[in-house]
Amino acid sequence: MSDQIVISGIRGIGHHGVFEHERADGQEFSVDVCLDVSTTTAAGTDDLDDTVHYGLVANAVHALIVGEPVDLIETLAERVADACLSFPGVSRVAVTVHKPPVDDLAAVDGIEITAVSAVFETAPVGGPDQEAYLNAVVIGRTVLDDISLLAATQLVEQGWHRVREVRWGPRTLDVDILAIDDEVIATEDLVVPHPRAHERGFVLVPWIDVDPEAVISGRGRVDDLLAAVDLTGVWPASVVLLIPDRGGAH
Ligand code: AMP
Repeated sequence: MSDQIVISGIRGIGHHGVFEHERADGQEFSVDVCLDVSTTTAAGTDDLDDTVHYGLVANAVHALIVGEPVDLIETLAERVADACLSFPGVSRVAVTVHKPPVDDLAAVDGIEITAVSAVFETAPVGGPDQEAYLNAVVIGRTVLDDISLLAATQLVEQGWHRVREVRWGPRTLDVDILAIDDEVIATEDLVVPHPRAHERGFVLVPWIDVDPEAVISGRGRVDDLLAAVDLTGVWPASVVLLIPDRGGAH
């Protein structure tokens, strides 16, 4: 019997791409794999050795993401496919490689991204047991009006919303509009500047990184605001650790 196993959101910082900045700085890649596997034996024996070990597949994929850079994400996808097919029992595989969400924003007609901050990791505060968040601030120009801009960011979010199926699964993407020049907007759908931006370390830290002179209308300079917030748990995400899963099958 053949079954499908989906592992989505295997993430890592890779240096793939043809642009110099992509090679030098690296960026986050996220890979989904859908494996056709034979499950008959494992279902009969309940033995992990008889099935494809999700953790090992995820580790192999992660190693390729952070490993030797290639020019094209198609090449990376091919290598991921080969690695998956080398696991016994895997007969077919579908691979999707995502570049960072900022690419999705840049692909929107009428939006031009002019600067991207470093990525910062933020420890989740409260809530259920969950992994760290990754935060970045981008600056861009747009010919879109405010509501069309909001709609565009929401479409990008929707493209990233998916069920978290296994460990390493992605959290959904949250795109906030922090400021639009020095406009002040307070409608039901859109509040600009973002009402909580000035008090969030995980916003202010990447913001100052991408624009040291940034000012939040009505609140003040971002560097001054930064001095007043608690930065515990906000740190550069240049090292993203994935802990091999040595537990049972998910
Ligand atoms: P959240 O997913 O928590 O960011 O909330 C999204 C909702 O906030 C949407 O319904 C938006 O209409 C609304 N919203 C208001 N102001 C903003 C803003 N500056 N950026 C993004 N969403 C906003």
